[in-house]
Order: sequence, then structure tokens, then C-alpha cells
Amino acid sequence: MATPVAIGIDLGTTYSITARMDEQGRSAIVRNLHGDLLTPSVVFFDDDEIVVGKAAKKVAHVHPDRIAECAKREIGNRYYSRPIHGQQIPPEAILGSILSRLKEDIQDVVGSDFKAVVTVPAYFDEPRRKATADAAQIAGIDLIDIVNEPTAAALAFGEQLGYLTAGGEARETIRVLVYDLGGGTFDVTVIELSPGNIQTLATDGDVQLGGRDWDLLLAKHVAEQFHSRHRIDVASDAAVMDNLVRAVEESKHTLSLRDHATVRLEHQGVADEIKIGRSEFEKISQGLLERTAFTTRQVLTAAGLTWQDISRILLVGGSTRMPMVPAMIEQLSHISPDRSINPDEAVARGAALFASYQLKKRTDQSATPFQVTDVSAHSLGIQGIQQDTLRRENVIIIPRNTPLPAQVTRPFVTQTANQNSVVVLVLEGESSEPGLCSQIGHSVLRHLPANLPQGYPVSITFSYGSNARLSVEAALANMDHRVTIELQRERDMSSEELGLWRQIMDPKDGTLVADLLHEAFGVGTQNASTPAQEQPTSPRDSTIAEQPETEPASPIGNTSRLSHGSPSSETSAPENISTPYTDAAMGTLPTMHTEQMAGTSPTFSFDTAIDHKDRRRQAIIRRTIFIFGHVISSAIGLAVGYYILCRLRPDADFLHLFSQ
Ligand code: AMP
Repeated sequence: MATPVAIGIDLGTTYSITARMDEQGRSAIVRNLHGDLLTPSVVFFDDDEIVVGKAAKKVAHVHPDRIAECAKREIGNRYYSRPIHGQQIPPEAILGSILSRLKEDIQDVVGSDFKAVVTVPAYFDEPRRKATADAAQIAGIDLIDIVNEPTAAALAFGEQLGYLTAGGEARETIRVLVYDLGGGTFDVTVIELSPGNIQTLATDGDVQLGGRDWDLLLAKHVAEQFHSRHRIDVASDAAVMDNLVRAVEESKHTLSLRDHATVRLEHQGVADEIKIGRSEFEKISQGLLERTAFTTRQVLTAAGLTWQDISRILLVGGSTRMPMVPAMIEQLSHISPDRSINPDEAVARGAALFASYQLKKRTDQSATPFQVTDVSAHSLGIQGIQQDTLRRENVIIIPRNTPLPAQVTRPFVTQTANQNSVVVLVLEGESSEPGLCSQIGHSVLRHLPANLPQGYPVSITFSYGSNARLSVEAALANMDHRVTIELQRERDMSSEELGLWRQIMDPKDGTLVADLLHEAFGVGTQNASTPAQEQPTSPRDSTIAEQPETEPASPIGNTSRLSHGSPSSETSAPENISTPYTDAAMGTLPTMHTEQMAGTSPTFSFDTAIDHKDRRRQAIIRRTIFIFGHVISSAIGLAVGYYILCRLRPDADFLHLFSQ
């Protein structure tokens, strides 16, 4: 049986690009329908078709209400920030339609027998990775894996410099810093390439920082210049500003090559040409650049390294073409960034290499070219209540930059006697304040044995796979009571929803996109100004995690709490045990990083879904009683008033009186 072609897809915020492995076993870029290397990640929802890429970008200024761009920046949110055809659309459905387009381009070149790896910023959290995989499913792409963009870039670099053997093994140990500034996201990662291993040492980034922010600043600057010359306010007109942001992107590219660029702007019958100098541009965007410098310094510190430990600096992402980027990097590190690798192509090429190694491993178990060890980009923890202060806290279980896969077990104790359930609210983020972290899921551990004493030990185990997926297990000490908790993810799409979006994103000939959307939701056009959370008709609403109806809630009053022995400095040192970890889909994976944390103080208790749900229920009851109270008291008031009037003026025609 022929091996499927290995494909790498760099699904970018502003542009996407794909690569394949050619007959010589080298990565090669797949050109799109127009013969271009890059496909703009822009989607136009026309009446009867979904248009992706250059053609969509061209009509963006004509139909701004039907255009979706920079959707990758919004992945993880429930809906794209603007309704399309009056309908709220999840960002993964938009990315799904971009991937559909890319899939067709790939099929034109390699046929339909291919399997792909899609890349994500290293800094993407767990829900964003899952949403990216969902987008691939919507597009009907056979996904091998999701891989981090800097890891892919490092692989491409290894290939390009002949640093990897044909089997993909590094010839010597070097440390590479990958600075990746794309259209909408930024991350910086330190990777160690050594024979047999590609290991991420530390990563950090910002999913809300990229070339687009430079565009926005430039557009704002042009609008200000226009205003100061003509006293005409452009900035307050959102549609004009949208077009201006698109127009200045070209000027920004020009400024990477020349000292000056000119932007032509016409508004309210006045036309003008605004000239911008490169140094002026660099001055207005200094703050953005400094943000990336700050993160770069932080990552180096997190990796426990200095610039002397870094062998190469790779610049990845189209925005690193701005001369201010290599200049800043060189000033910071005194290392001249490596220019041997094309910043647009590196990630897709590396993803194709990664896909081919994974496919090889699947078909030939003895093939072990190298191991890829990533780290957790964010800390994972549980919401607990500090017992002494009753403050809610994010109790971190797997700290950021822990090598993956990792398994960490932490001891907790029950808080009350005869406790029958606990809630594990999983948080991702660095802050001790739960409100500043993202809640990625929750689960309820029910039916604890009867008559458990207060302070009974319960251990919670987080297993974080190298694919950055999390599973949670709870176990009662000295009892055969061990439960793998099914994590209810806050924003997961069900398979039915994925199927529905797949149908919508792939309209058959003659079917109107708007009709499909409305048919699917069974309603007419919704008000574009309605906030996303209040849209009752989207399929997403059915996925908000609730306690399963089949599992009756525990009685209120028998609150379900755990107390936790916090991982403080007083706790005993973590015991690292190395055990082989096998993932059915991927074959043998790197050594698992395992920790058993022991500790006794201070103690935390968990918030409970019962409390949470009960609070909501009580709020609804209170509101209902309030409304009823008002209606009934108004009715009584009217009746009493009418009665008194009738008694005072028995002959009057009150209906007549009121109608006057
Ligand atoms: P990527 O996500 O890696 O495709 O990067 C896209 C971003 O790179 C967009 O914001 C582009 O405007 C930006 N970009 C591409 N080429 C250049 C250039 N020559 N100068 C400045 N920015 C560029």
C-alpha cells in the first residue's frame, strides 16, 4: 500500500502556506491555485460560495460585513468578533474553511492520499490547540498531529543547513532561539537540537501581538496626519479605518525596503498623500517592538541561559522582515540573526518534515529518527479555596515550561466529614488569582464512599500529553476508588456541531451560504450588535459544560470540598521518576516527566459545581419571585384603586373616563 504524502500546513493569522515532502525526501512548498506561495487567511462568505485567499482579500473593502480575517487570533473565543450573514460563527469554522481551500490546493498537486501536520504558536493553550484540530476536522483533513511553530522552524533550519541526517537526527548539539513574529501572534522559544532529540527548553509569547498591530498603529498615524491637515476625522469611521489598515500593510512592506512610503487617503471628498519615513514608523511602533524584546529576555531567563549559550537565532514570520526586528535582536544578543532560512516558508517546511517522520514511525516501528520534547507553555492548576483566608486561589499543579509529557500527582484532603463529591475546576495561567486565568474545564468527582472523615487524603493527578492534551485522575488513599475524570471543556465543539459546520463550510452547488446558516440555526438573521454570549441559537450553546442530568446534584449543605497540601517551599522535594510513555496513535513518545508532590500546608478547599449551579438557580428564582411580586402587587393596586373609585363615584363610567 502506498504511503500517504506527508504535508505540513502553516495556518497563519494573515497568510497560510503549505509544504510537502518531495520524491527526494526534501520539503517543498505547495503553490496555491494562483501559483502563489502564500494564501491570505481571509474568508469571504458570498451568497452562494465561500471564497478564501487573494480573491477574498480583494473584495474585503466592498463587503466588510461578510469578511472574516485574522480569525486565528480569535481562536479559543466562542464566536468570531463580527457576525457573518447576521450569524455568529465560531473562529474554528472560519479556519476550517481556510483549511478546506488549502486542502484543495494540496490535492491538485499530490492527490487525495495525504496526511497533514498543522502548526500552532508554541504559546497556544490547550483549548486553542483543540480548536485548531477541530478546524482541521471541519475541513476534512486527515490530521497526524499539531506541532509547535518554533519546533517546525528548527526542523526546517536543521534540514536547510544539512544539520539533520536523512533520518532526521541532529549531528551535534546546538541551542537555537526562534523569534517568531507573524501577522497576529508572537512567540519566542529556545530549542536544543541534539543527536536523537529536539527539546524545547522554554517558550513564551503573546497571541495578541503581530504585524497586524504595526498596521493598526500605522493606520492611526496616517489618520492623525490627515486630521491635522484637513480637520477631517477618519478614525471614528470604522469602515474607512478597516480599509486604511489594509492599505497601509503595503506601505509597511515598502518601508522594509525603502526609507519612505506614501499612503493615499480620500475621505469626504478630500484626497491627500501622506508620506511616512521609516524612522518615523519605527518610533511610533517602538512600544510593540519593546514588548517582544521583553518576552525574549524573559524566555532566556526561564531557560536558565544567557546569550553566550545560544548558538543561532532564527527569525520566523513575515514581520521579522521589518529591519527594526533584526536590529533589536542584534543589539540585545550581539548575535547576528540567521538569514539562511526563508521566514515565510520555514514553519510549513518543518511541519512537512515532522509529518514525514511521524508517518515513518507509524509504518516502521524500528525507525526512531528523534524525539521531540515540548514544554507546557502555561501553568495548569486547580481552583482552590485557601482554608485560612477562604480566598480562592489558582493552585498550580503543572508549572509552565515543564517538559512534556508530564504527570504530576498532588495530595489533597477532604474538608468536611461525610463529604460525597468534589469539583475539580481546571485553570490555565500563571496568576494565583483564578479570575485572571482561563478556565479550561471542570469535572465533578461524585459518589465518594460514605462516612469519610474530615481531612481524608485524595490525590489528584494531571497527565499532560506531548500533544498538550490534559487528563485528570482522582484517587482516594488506601481505597480502590480511582476515577479518571472526563474533563468537560468549556468551549469544546461536539462531533454533531463539527459535522454541521463541515456541511456549512462546504456548500453544494447552488446552495446559498446564508440559507445554510439560517437553516442550520432555524432562525432568521440576528442583530449584528447582539453580544455573542446572548445568541441563543448557535450550536455552541449546547456545549457549555453543565452537570449531567443523569447524575443528580448532591444535596446542598453537604458541600463537597477537598483541602490541598500546597506545593510550597516547605514541601518535600519532588521525586522525579522516569517511565516510558506510550501513546497508541503516536508510538513511543519521550520519557514522561513524573512528579509526586507531597505537602501539608497551607490547605485549600475546592469550589463546587453544586455551589456554582445552586447560585445560578437561586439567582433565577430570586429574579422570578421579584417579577411575580411586581406583577401581583401592581394588579392588587389597580384592583383596590378601581374598587375605591367605584365606591366613591358609583354612577361614573370609568372606562369612558380612562379613554379620555
Ligand atoms: P506570517 O503570519 O508569518 O505570514 O506573517 C504575516 C505578517 O508579515 C503580515 O503582518 C505581513 O504584513 C508581514 N510582512 C510580510 N512581509 C513583510 C515585509 N516585507 N515587511 C514587513 N512586514 C511584512
